[in-house]
Amino acid sequence: MSAAILDGKACAAALLHAVTARVETAQARGIQPCLAVVLVGDDPASQVYVRSKEKRAAEAGITARDHRLPATTTTADLLALVRGLNADPSVHGILVQLPLPNAVDSDAVLLAIDPAKDVDGFHPDNLGRLVLGKPRFVACTPQGCMRLLALGGIELAGRRALVVGRSTIVGKPMAQLLVHAHATVTIAHSRTVDLAGEVARADIVVAAIGRPEHIRGAWIKPGAAVIDVGMNRLADGKLVGDVEYTAAAERAAAITPVPGGVGPMTIACLLSNLVDAALA
Ligand code: NAP
Repeated sequence: MSAAILDGKACAAALLHAVTARVETAQARGIQPCLAVVLVGDDPASQVYVRSKEKRAAEAGITARDHRLPATTTTADLLALVRGLNADPSVHGILVQLPLPNAVDSDAVLLAIDPAKDVDGFHPDNLGRLVLGKPRFVACTPQGCMRLLALGGIELAGRRALVVGRSTIVGKPMAQLLVHAHATVTIAHSRTVDLAGEVARADIVVAAIGRPEHIRGAWIKPGAAVIDVGMNRLADGKLVGDVEYTAAAERAAAITPVPGGVGPMTIACLLSNLVDAALA
Protein backbone atom coordinates (compact mmCIF):
# COMPACT_ATOMS: atom_id res chain seq x y z
CA MET A 1 0.00 0.00 0.00
CA SER A 2 1.15 3.52 -0.67
CA ALA A 3 -0.46 6.16 1.51
CA ALA A 4 -2.42 9.17 0.32
CA ILE A 5 -0.52 12.31 1.29
CA LEU A 6 -2.52 14.69 3.47
CA ASP A 7 -1.24 17.94 1.99
CA GLY A 8 -1.09 20.53 4.76
CA LYS A 9 0.14 23.27 2.45
CA ALA A 10 -2.89 22.99 0.15
CA CYS A 11 -5.31 22.57 3.05
CA ALA A 12 -3.81 25.62 4.81
CA ALA A 13 -4.00 27.66 1.60
CA ALA A 14 -7.72 26.83 1.26
CA LEU A 15 -8.35 27.78 4.90
CA LEU A 16 -6.39 31.04 4.51
CA HIS A 17 -8.44 31.84 1.41
CA ALA A 18 -11.60 31.50 3.52
CA VAL A 19 -10.00 33.56 6.32
CA THR A 20 -9.16 36.34 3.84
CA ALA A 21 -12.79 36.47 2.66
CA ARG A 22 -13.96 36.72 6.29
CA VAL A 23 -11.44 39.49 6.96
CA GLU A 24 -13.06 41.40 4.09
CA THR A 25 -16.48 40.81 5.67
CA ALA A 26 -15.13 42.22 8.95
CA GLN A 27 -13.61 45.23 7.19
CA ALA A 28 -16.92 45.92 5.43
CA ARG A 29 -18.43 46.14 8.93
CA GLY A 30 -15.72 48.62 9.97
CA ILE A 31 -13.66 46.06 11.92
CA GLN A 32 -9.95 45.68 11.13
CA PRO A 33 -8.92 42.25 12.55
CA CYS A 34 -5.80 42.69 14.68
CA LEU A 35 -3.49 40.17 16.32
CA ALA A 36 -1.11 41.34 19.05
CA VAL A 37 2.05 39.24 19.04
CA VAL A 38 4.24 39.22 22.15
CA LEU A 39 7.76 37.86 21.77
CA VAL A 40 10.16 37.90 24.69
CA GLY A 41 13.91 37.36 24.29
CA ASP A 42 15.80 36.25 21.20
CA ASP A 43 15.13 32.52 20.81
CA PRO A 44 15.83 31.97 17.08
CA ALA A 45 13.10 29.34 16.59
CA SER A 46 10.50 31.64 18.19
CA GLN A 47 11.61 34.49 15.95
CA VAL A 48 11.12 32.29 12.88
CA TYR A 49 7.62 31.21 14.05
CA VAL A 50 6.58 34.78 14.81
CA ARG A 51 7.87 36.06 11.46
CA SER A 52 5.93 33.45 9.54
CA LYS A 53 2.75 34.06 11.58
CA GLU A 54 3.01 37.79 10.90
CA LYS A 55 3.67 37.22 7.18
CA ARG A 56 0.59 35.00 6.80
CA ALA A 57 -1.49 37.46 8.83
CA ALA A 58 -0.49 40.32 6.51
CA GLU A 59 -1.34 38.22 3.45
CA ALA A 60 -4.82 37.61 4.86
CA GLY A 61 -5.34 41.34 5.54
CA ILE A 62 -4.93 40.95 9.32
CA THR A 63 -2.94 43.57 11.22
CA ALA A 64 -0.18 42.02 13.33
CA ARG A 65 0.93 44.31 16.13
CA ASP A 66 4.39 43.43 17.32
CA HIS A 67 5.53 43.62 20.96
CA ARG A 68 9.18 42.52 21.13
CA LEU A 69 10.61 42.59 24.62
CA PRO A 70 14.07 41.86 26.03
CA ALA A 71 14.87 38.55 27.77
CA THR A 72 15.08 40.51 31.05
CA THR A 73 11.33 41.26 30.95
CA THR A 74 9.63 40.37 34.25
CA THR A 75 6.33 38.62 34.91
CA ALA A 76 4.95 41.95 36.18
CA ASP A 77 5.97 43.73 32.94
CA LEU A 78 4.23 41.05 30.86
CA LEU A 79 1.10 41.05 33.01
CA ALA A 80 0.86 44.83 32.56
CA LEU A 81 1.25 44.48 28.79
CA VAL A 82 -1.36 41.71 28.57
CA ARG A 83 -3.84 43.70 30.66
CA GLY A 84 -3.36 46.67 28.34
CA LEU A 85 -4.00 44.48 25.29
CA ASN A 86 -7.07 42.95 26.98
CA ALA A 87 -8.49 46.43 27.45
CA ASP A 88 -7.69 47.62 23.90
CA PRO A 89 -10.81 47.18 21.75
CA SER A 90 -8.77 47.35 18.52
CA VAL A 91 -6.94 44.11 19.50
CA HIS A 92 -8.95 40.93 18.80
CA GLY A 93 -6.39 38.27 19.61
CA ILE A 94 -3.29 38.02 21.81
CA LEU A 95 -0.52 35.59 21.06
CA VAL A 96 2.25 35.20 23.63
CA GLN A 97 4.96 33.19 21.91
CA LEU A 98 6.19 30.27 24.04
CA PRO A 99 8.53 29.38 25.57
CA LEU A 100 8.90 32.43 27.81
CA PRO A 101 12.21 32.91 29.65
CA ASN A 102 12.55 30.67 32.72
CA ALA A 103 12.31 33.59 35.13
CA VAL A 104 8.80 34.45 33.84
CA ASP A 105 5.74 32.74 35.31
CA SER A 106 4.25 31.49 32.02
CA ASP A 107 1.08 30.13 33.66
CA ALA A 108 0.32 33.53 35.22
CA VAL A 109 0.82 35.28 31.88
CA LEU A 110 -1.40 32.83 29.94
CA LEU A 111 -4.05 33.04 32.68
CA ALA A 112 -4.06 36.84 32.39
CA ILE A 113 -5.10 36.79 28.72
CA ASP A 114 -8.79 37.56 28.23
CA PRO A 115 -10.21 34.14 27.16
CA ALA A 116 -12.19 35.95 24.43
CA LYS A 117 -8.84 37.05 22.93
CA ASP A 118 -7.00 33.77 23.58
CA VAL A 119 -6.70 32.74 19.93
CA ASP A 120 -4.07 30.12 20.82
CA GLY A 121 -6.70 28.31 22.93
CA PHE A 122 -4.29 27.74 25.85
CA HIS A 123 -6.29 29.56 28.55
CA PRO A 124 -7.88 27.18 31.12
CA ASP A 125 -11.28 28.65 30.23
CA ASN A 126 -10.87 27.61 26.59
CA LEU A 127 -9.36 24.23 27.45
CA GLY A 128 -12.23 23.63 29.89
CA ARG A 129 -14.81 24.52 27.24
CA LEU A 130 -13.16 22.00 24.93
CA VAL A 131 -13.44 19.27 27.57
CA LEU A 132 -17.13 20.16 28.00
CA GLY A 133 -17.63 19.79 24.24
CA LYS A 134 -18.48 23.51 23.95
CA PRO A 135 -15.30 24.91 22.44
CA ARG A 136 -14.62 28.59 21.75
CA PHE A 137 -11.01 28.72 20.54
CA VAL A 138 -9.53 25.29 19.87
CA ALA A 139 -5.73 25.04 20.16
CA CYS A 140 -4.35 25.55 16.66
CA THR A 141 -2.18 22.46 16.14
CA PRO A 142 -4.82 19.89 17.20
CA GLN A 143 -7.44 21.85 15.26
CA GLY A 144 -5.18 21.61 12.20
CA CYS A 145 -4.81 17.84 12.72
CA MET A 146 -8.60 17.44 12.79
CA ARG A 147 -8.93 19.47 9.59
CA LEU A 148 -6.34 17.21 7.92
CA LEU A 149 -8.23 14.09 9.04
CA ALA A 150 -11.39 15.60 7.56
CA LEU A 151 -9.53 16.43 4.35
CA GLY A 152 -8.54 12.78 4.04
CA GLY A 153 -12.12 11.64 4.69
CA ILE A 154 -10.84 9.58 7.63
CA GLU A 155 -13.68 7.94 9.54
CA LEU A 156 -13.22 8.54 13.29
CA ALA A 157 -16.41 7.29 14.95
CA GLY A 158 -15.88 3.98 16.67
CA ARG A 159 -12.28 3.66 15.53
CA ARG A 160 -9.18 3.33 17.70
CA ALA A 161 -7.14 6.54 17.87
CA LEU A 162 -3.76 6.79 19.56
CA VAL A 163 -2.31 10.16 20.55
CA VAL A 164 1.37 9.91 21.43
CA GLY A 165 2.25 12.85 23.69
CA ARG A 166 0.25 14.53 26.46
CA SER A 167 1.29 18.17 26.29
CA THR A 168 -1.31 20.82 27.07
CA ILE A 169 -0.84 22.47 23.68
CA VAL A 170 -1.04 19.36 21.48
CA GLY A 171 -1.61 15.90 22.99
CA LYS A 172 -4.36 16.61 25.53
CA PRO A 173 -6.57 18.85 23.35
CA MET A 174 -6.03 16.45 20.43
CA ALA A 175 -7.34 13.55 22.51
CA GLN A 176 -10.39 15.61 23.50
CA LEU A 177 -11.19 16.44 19.88
CA LEU A 178 -10.95 12.78 18.91
CA VAL A 179 -13.20 11.75 21.81
CA HIS A 180 -15.79 14.31 20.71
CA ALA A 181 -15.54 12.83 17.20
CA HIS A 182 -16.50 9.48 18.82
CA ALA A 183 -13.13 7.74 18.42
CA THR A 184 -11.94 5.33 21.11
CA VAL A 185 -8.88 7.21 22.32
CA THR A 186 -5.65 6.12 23.99
CA ILE A 187 -3.00 8.61 25.09
CA ALA A 188 0.59 7.34 25.16
CA HIS A 189 3.54 9.13 26.78
CA SER A 190 7.07 8.52 28.01
CA ARG A 191 5.91 5.97 30.61
CA THR A 192 3.86 3.91 28.15
CA VAL A 193 5.18 0.36 28.38
CA ASP A 194 4.54 -1.02 24.89
CA LEU A 195 4.37 1.88 22.44
CA ALA A 196 4.89 -0.39 19.44
CA GLY A 197 1.88 -2.52 20.50
CA GLU A 198 -0.29 0.58 21.04
CA VAL A 199 0.62 1.91 17.60
CA ALA A 200 -0.06 -1.47 15.98
CA ARG A 201 -3.65 -1.46 17.33
CA ALA A 202 -4.45 2.09 16.22
CA ASP A 203 -6.54 3.05 13.20
CA ILE A 204 -5.46 6.66 13.66
CA VAL A 205 -2.05 7.66 15.06
CA VAL A 206 -1.25 11.24 16.05
CA ALA A 207 2.41 11.62 16.97
CA ALA A 208 3.40 14.65 19.08
CA ILE A 209 6.56 13.58 20.83
CA GLY A 210 9.51 15.64 19.61
CA ARG A 211 11.79 12.67 18.84
CA PRO A 212 12.96 12.12 15.27
CA GLU A 213 11.29 9.11 13.61
CA HIS A 214 10.61 7.53 17.00
CA ILE A 215 7.52 5.74 15.67
CA ARG A 216 8.80 3.08 13.33
CA GLY A 217 7.06 2.45 10.05
CA ALA A 218 6.79 -1.28 10.76
CA TRP A 219 4.59 -0.55 13.83
CA ILE A 220 1.85 1.11 11.76
CA LYS A 221 -1.33 -0.93 11.27
CA PRO A 222 -1.94 -1.45 7.54
CA GLY A 223 -4.57 1.04 6.42
CA ALA A 224 -4.11 3.41 9.38
CA ALA A 225 -4.12 7.22 9.13
CA VAL A 226 -0.96 8.88 10.47
CA ILE A 227 -0.75 12.51 11.55
CA ASP A 228 2.80 13.57 12.38
CA VAL A 229 3.00 16.72 14.51
CA GLY A 230 6.72 16.34 15.27
CA MET A 231 9.22 18.84 13.92
CA ASN A 232 12.77 17.73 14.59
CA ARG A 233 15.84 19.37 13.09
CA LEU A 234 18.63 16.83 12.48
CA ALA A 235 22.34 17.67 12.69
CA ASP A 236 22.50 17.90 8.88
CA GLY A 237 19.72 20.52 8.94
CA LYS A 238 17.00 18.18 7.62
CA LEU A 239 13.55 18.53 9.20
CA VAL A 240 11.88 15.22 10.11
CA GLY A 241 8.79 14.22 12.03
CA ASP A 242 8.22 11.79 14.89
CA VAL A 243 7.28 9.02 12.45
CA GLU A 244 9.61 7.06 10.18
CA TYR A 245 7.90 8.52 7.14
CA THR A 246 8.93 6.39 4.16
CA ALA A 247 8.33 3.05 5.87
CA ALA A 248 5.08 4.27 7.47
CA ALA A 249 3.78 5.54 4.12
CA GLU A 250 4.10 2.00 2.73
CA ARG A 251 1.63 0.69 5.33
CA ALA A 252 -0.67 3.64 6.07
CA ALA A 253 -3.73 4.62 4.03
CA ALA A 254 -3.06 8.32 4.64
CA ILE A 255 -0.15 10.24 6.13
CA THR A 256 1.02 13.83 6.68
CA PRO A 257 4.49 14.77 5.42
CA VAL A 258 7.05 16.77 7.42
CA PRO A 259 7.46 19.52 6.37
CA GLY A 260 4.23 20.44 4.60
CA GLY A 261 1.76 18.64 6.84
CA VAL A 262 0.63 19.87 10.24
CA GLY A 263 2.99 22.89 10.37
CA PRO A 264 1.21 25.12 7.82
CA MET A 265 -2.16 24.19 9.34
CA THR A 266 -1.21 25.55 12.76
CA ILE A 267 -0.77 29.11 11.47
CA ALA A 268 -3.88 28.94 9.28
CA CYS A 269 -5.95 27.79 12.28
CA LEU A 270 -4.53 30.61 14.41
CA LEU A 271 -5.69 33.18 11.85
CA SER A 272 -9.05 31.42 11.56
CA ASN A 273 -9.45 31.77 15.35
CA LEU A 274 -8.41 35.43 15.08
CA VAL A 275 -11.07 36.26 12.52
CA ASP A 276 -13.63 34.39 14.67
CA ALA A 277 -12.60 36.66 17.56
CA ALA A 278 -12.88 39.78 15.40
CA LEU A 279 -16.36 38.85 14.19
CA ALA A 280 -17.63 37.65 17.61
P1 NAP B 1 6.28 18.28 24.69
O1 NAP B 1 5.54 19.26 25.52
O2 NAP B 1 7.75 18.11 24.86
O3 NAP B 1 5.56 16.86 24.89
C1 NAP B 1 6.13 15.70 24.34
C2 NAP B 1 5.29 14.52 24.76
O4 NAP B 1 5.90 13.36 24.21
C3 NAP B 1 5.24 14.33 26.27
O5 NAP B 1 3.91 14.07 26.68
C4 NAP B 1 6.13 13.12 26.51
O6 NAP B 1 5.72 12.28 27.58
C5 NAP B 1 5.97 12.36 25.23
N1 NAP B 1 7.13 11.50 25.00
C6 NAP B 1 8.43 11.79 25.15
N2 NAP B 1 9.19 10.71 24.89
C7 NAP B 1 8.33 9.71 24.60
C8 NAP B 1 8.51 8.34 24.27
N3 NAP B 1 9.73 7.79 24.21
N4 NAP B 1 7.41 7.60 24.03
C9 NAP B 1 6.18 8.14 24.10
N5 NAP B 1 5.95 9.45 24.42
C10 NAP B 1 7.03 10.20 24.66
O7 NAP B 1 6.07 18.56 23.13
P2 NAP B 1 4.88 19.29 22.31
O8 NAP B 1 4.94 20.73 22.55
O9 NAP B 1 3.60 18.56 22.50
O10 NAP B 1 5.43 19.02 20.82
C11 NAP B 1 5.65 17.73 20.32
C12 NAP B 1 6.30 17.81 18.96
O11 NAP B 1 5.44 18.50 18.09
C13 NAP B 1 7.61 18.59 18.89
O12 NAP B 1 8.43 18.02 17.86
C14 NAP B 1 7.20 19.97 18.46
O13 NAP B 1 8.23 20.66 17.77
C15 NAP B 1 6.10 19.63 17.52
N6 NAP B 1 5.09 20.69 17.37
C16 NAP B 1 4.74 21.00 16.09
C17 NAP B 1 3.79 21.95 15.87
C18 NAP B 1 3.39 22.24 14.47
O14 NAP B 1 2.79 23.27 14.21
N7 NAP B 1 3.70 21.34 13.53
C19 NAP B 1 3.16 22.60 16.93
C20 NAP B 1 3.51 22.24 18.24
C21 NAP B 1 4.47 21.27 18.43
P3 NAP B 1 5.74 12.75 29.12
O15 NAP B 1 4.52 13.62 29.27
O16 NAP B 1 5.64 11.49 29.87
O17 NAP B 1 7.02 13.51 29.32
